[in-house]
Amino acid sequence: MNLEEINKIVYDYRLKPEYEQFVSDLRKFLSEEIAPTAESFDLEEKFPEENIRKFASKGYMGIPVPKKYGGMGLGEFGYGLAVQEISKVDTAHGTIIGASTGLCEVPLWLFGQEWQREKYLPDMTSGKKLGAFALTEPQAGSDAANIRTTASLSGENYLLNGTKQFITNGDRAETLVVFAANELSLGPYGGITAFIVERSFGGIKTAKVEKKMGIRASTTAQIIFENCPVPKENVLGMFGAGFIVALTALDGGRASLSAGAVGGAEETLSRVMEWAQRNPGLARKQSVQKMTADMAMEIHAARLVSYQSLEEIGSYFDRLANGERIPSPERAMISRHTAMAKSYCSEVASRAVDSAMQILGFEGYVEGSWAERAFRDSFIAEIYEGTNDIQRLVIARELLGAEGDR
Ligand SMILES: Cc1cc2nc3c(=O)[nH]c(=O)nc-3n(C[C@H](O)[C@H](O)[C@H](O)COP(=O)(O)OP(=O)(O)OC[C@H]3O[C@@H](n4cnc5c(N)ncnc54)[C@H](O)[C@@H]3O)c2cc1C
Repeated sequence: MNLEEINKIVYDYRLKPEYEQFVSDLRKFLSEEIAPTAESFDLEEKFPEENIRKFASKGYMGIPVPKKYGGMGLGEFGYGLAVQEISKVDTAHGTIIGASTGLCEVPLWLFGQEWQREKYLPDMTSGKKLGAFALTEPQAGSDAANIRTTASLSGENYLLNGTKQFITNGDRAETLVVFAANELSLGPYGGITAFIVERSFGGIKTAKVEKKMGIRASTTAQIIFENCPVPKENVLGMFGAGFIVALTALDGGRASLSAGAVGGAEETLSRVMEWAQRNPGLARKQSVQKMTADMAMEIHAARLVSYQSLEEIGSYFDRLANGERIPSPERAMISRHTAMAKSYCSEVASRAVDSAMQILGFEGYVEGSWAERAFRDSFIAEIYEGTNDIQRLVIARELLGAEGDR
């Protein structure tokens, strides 16, 4: 069996007909256009500009966004399936696309006024402009409510001042959703506002591009805002309600991340099966059989958890975009499910890569092996969009109704 045939066995799931063609076309595109160069971008730590242009030319930079704004209109479920497929080929490409699509376009679509959607989305869905989501700061990672970037009114503009760090696409995005404190004393609910910021507004400096162990084709930057003038009308959502914008975007991000982790784990299992096929002695070893069976069971469970979360978030976002108010117990349940999906699936992916390394031995550890790159790449899903520890706190606090000790 070749890898393609093995992949079909690993992906033992029947998609709804409306997604089948989309996934099949995307797989073909990825294997022909992206897979051949993905590894070299990682090794050279180079942003895959040409590849991102190819994604854009097929419409893949706007998968969840309605067609009206140049997107594919496939919602969060279709987008999650895409992140799953892209992550099989390279997590860094998935990260670049995710930051632009899931974390910048989606909140713009959900919370933007009609003129904002019409002005900003088509350039991003067409790939003309890349997007970014700037929340994290040096003192505000897990504690995102503690942001210190300020927004102060000066004439017709808000002036943004502060430092954002670890921002995917932060050095090159032309459209950024930026979170800033409009009034520090009000705390996160009331005191934080989301802004649509164009790099061309000026007052934005890239201070640093991080060197990373994994997802090295994606850039992660520290950016400094110095009196960055943002027109008053570029407030995204309600003034003072930016924290809700951030949390909502991150709920969607976590659901799609869970699918990306499932994709990574599936690819790992496929590669292990291919390796075992070429080394029949290995397949007879009980320890290898157990690790392989555990991987398959966990991936199956993870896929169901992820898809359920994607379906839930998909209908939630459609309702939000249509102006429906979602009762808070329902929102809390959806957040809990995305937290569970992101944590569970990312840990399944990490365990799968760990097992693969053990099964492959030296073959996995050597530079240039797929397992070595997967090992460096997979852990990121346990960190970004909120660490898994923090997801567990969210889940537990909801269930126990307690804030807990810090
Ligand atoms: C490659 C990469 C890309 C990223 N892209 C973006 C982006 O595009 N936009 C953006 O805004 N951010 C981005 N981030 C930031 C990311 O979301 C944060 O790194 C993440 O939320 C964790 O924050 P931190 O790194 O500051 O860790 P910290 O908050 O310092 O946490 C360190 C450790 O302490 C634990 N911890 C912290 N607080 C608590 C607590 N109260 N209780 C229990 N445990 C706790 C954490 O779980 C973790 O294990 C990115 C990060 C990376 C690594």
